Amino acid sequence: MDREALYREILEETRELARRAAHPHRGTLHVSPETKSLLEGAPAARQKAQAATSAPESPAASDEREAALAELANRVAACRQCGLCESRRQTVFADGSPTARLVFVGEAPGSEEDRQGVPFVGRAGQLLTDIIVKGMGIRREEVYICNVIKCRPPDNRNPSPEEVVACEPYLIEQLTLVQPEAICALGAYAARSLLKTEASVGSLRGKWHDYQGIPLRVTYHPSYLLRNPADKRKTWEDIQAVMQRLGMPIPA
Ligand code: SF4
Repeated sequence: MDREALYREILEETRELARRAAHPHRGTLHVSPETKSLLEGAPAARQKAQAATSAPESPAASDEREAALAELANRVAACRQCGLCESRRQTVFADGSPTARLVFVGEAPGSEEDRQGVPFVGRAGQLLTDIIVKGMGIRREEVYICNVIKCRPPDNRNPSPEEVVACEPYLIEQLTLVQPEAICALGAYAARSLLKTEASVGSLRGKWHDYQGIPLRVTYHPSYLLRNPADKRKTWEDIQAVMQRLGMPIPA
């Protein structure tokens, strides 16, 4: 585990201990003068740590990363590794910033995505955009959005295990190149593919997972939320956890 991950884990555990030790009604906590002075210095230390982790990349490194992603997108566009190449209009590679701190990973393109060549542009895409823009308070262009599968399965059927295996190396390469600080897996396919598990979204959400050293949070796919709007609240809790992890301000 790297130092940053260790620091976050210690911070999470400390928060949990503080929550448990707090006054049941007022939520206040008695600490020693030494701890008080350490806590008062914490925001400045945190700001310093954040500045270090999100230091702007040099233009040359950024260009190199963009070029590598463009080259990967070209390879995907020519891919015929599975039968989905027969029915696709075009491949759907990604949308957003190659230097994003947060990557959303979905399942596979739908008909609108297949038509436009951009992930999450149909009704579910609009909901994801609302989550990013209205909920998180940032522009959609500031995150990176992609799918496990790059070609539309006919009639929006679920991708087969063979198709996931065939396409997964492209996702792994994308995530290696983007190097986000956090990943949000949208729905069962993304979660299962990234975490190599058969567990349900319901049992995977609400806690942090690890994908190759990158913290990963699981939440519901926007298509599911369109059918089950009552679960939007749970997704908002998941998104808030991601924002907290990234040190983003959470709207009241
Ligand atoms: S789904 Fe993936 S592996 Fe299959 S043809 Fe498309 S890009 Fe290639």
